Amino acid sequence: MTDKTIFKKIIDREIPADIIYEDAHCLAFRDINPQAPTHVLVIPKKEIVSLDDLEDEDQAIMGPIMLAIRNIARQLNLDHGYRVVCNCGPEAGQEVPHLHFHILAGRALTWPPG
Ligand code: 5GP
Repeated sequence: MTDKTIFKKIIDREIPADIIYEDAHCLAFRDINPQAPTHVLVIPKKEIVSLDDLEDEDQAIMGPIMLAIRNIARQLNLDHGYRVVCNCGPEAGQEVPHLHFHILAGRALTWPPG
């Protein structure tokens, strides 16, 4: 049995988080170290390490999660735009081994990312 990730502990309410959205498939909460005025993490409740670890059956939850991201953006009135980022693996900067989507907004975001 591997140790729970920090995100699994948030799902299980073992550690606190500023949760702003929840449905059957996912949970969204504010990032503890925000990189923009709005920085929210959207995670599947299912323990999936990364995009690279998705299984065919996970298509049943990925569509709802994308729609949840849209709904969260509406809930937060991100009318001027937002960026959705998914870091996959060490070279992409993934630190937490539980699939997550960053929603970043509230300032002009440069491109390309670092
Ligand atoms: P990654 O680099 O894996 O794509 O992003 C992980 C994100 O999780 C980082 O932006 C980091 O600030 C955030 N994070 C790490 N630990 C916690 C925590 O305990 N609570 C919250 N709310 N965010 C966290």
